[in-house]
Amino acid sequence: MKQIAVIGAGTMGNGIAHVFAQHGYSVSLIDVNAEALEKAVKTITKNLDRQLAKERITQEVKDSTLANLSTSTVLAEAAKNADLIVEAATENPDIKFQIFKQMDEVAPTHCILATNTSSISITQIAAQTNRPNQVIGMHFMNPVPVMKLVEVIRGYGTSDETTNTIMELSAAIGKTPTEVNDYPGFVANRILMPMINEAIYTLWEGVAGVEEIDTVMMLGMAHPMGPLHLADFIGLDVCLSILRVMQNGFGLDKYAPCPLLVNMVAAGRLGKKSGEGFYKYTPGSKEKVSAF
Ligand code: NAD
Repeated sequence: MKQIAVIGAGTMGNGIAHVFAQHGYSVSLIDVNAEALEKAVKTITKNLDRQLAKERITQEVKDSTLANLSTSTVLAEAAKNADLIVEAATENPDIKFQIFKQMDEVAPTHCILATNTSSISITQIAAQTNRPNQVIGMHFMNPVPVMKLVEVIRGYGTSDETTNTIMELSAAIGKTPTEVNDYPGFVANRILMPMINEAIYTLWEGVAGVEEIDTVMMLGMAHPMGPLHLADFIGLDVCLSILRVMQNGFGLDKYAPCPLLVNMVAAGRLGKKSGEGFYKYTPGSKEKVSAF
């Protein structure tokens, strides 16, 4: 495994590219949007500078990480020599299905096709290809350079060989891989999203304010971040789409999103990335104040 292509250069894609490049892999970062690629390289450089300032990496590692990284807006070009492709594009089934169809056509036959989806069925994604045995979920956590977990999700047809390769690769880039099966929300979001949704219901019903809810969960349950702050950090649109996938996938209304979450997303209040969710954020500052 030498050549890795990462598709989608947003919040997750830039972190995934960063970690692979830092561990010596040659990485092509691909996005349909050239501005997203520019922003991703700036973010990776800024994050490397932060690691350097904290003496977690040396100047040589920073230089080699950037040297290992290239960007492209043409999927076919970047994918044709890849040993592994990790898709981290927008959480939308149609977008992912289209990307997997195209990757299957252009990638070498030995190439493993992985997806960082938070909730979409790996089995359905694999069904878009002629190599379902080589399709797997590689669910990194945000922020990727910091968080240790990779949830490795086996689709219905994923082979042992593919699973073992991805488990070993995840360990080689300093992560702790954990193998799970392909059911809606997998493990991480099946447990996390109902908690976030319940926190939003608790706010909506006026049981407590934003800061009070987060304080109870941080100080009472030893969570490093409260559920409403975490929802802002993940993106409220991402939370909504994961809840919908679980509601539809299980056919159970216990996963139905709180109407307040639905309204906030419709109003463009998407959390940290839009500047306002349950809290208001000032660009370049760690300060946050309750938006309610
Ligand atoms: P994002 O919106 O920040 O970035 C998505 C990027 O994909 C954008 O830059 C967009 O231009 C690009 N894109 C869209 N269609 C494309 C295509 N056809 N080809 C190439 N690029 C395309 O999204 P994100 O938060 O980085 O999420 C990406 C994936 O990671 C999603 O599947 C999401 O569920 C998953 N995920 C997100 C988080 C999180 O905390 N945000 C955590 C774990 C997993």
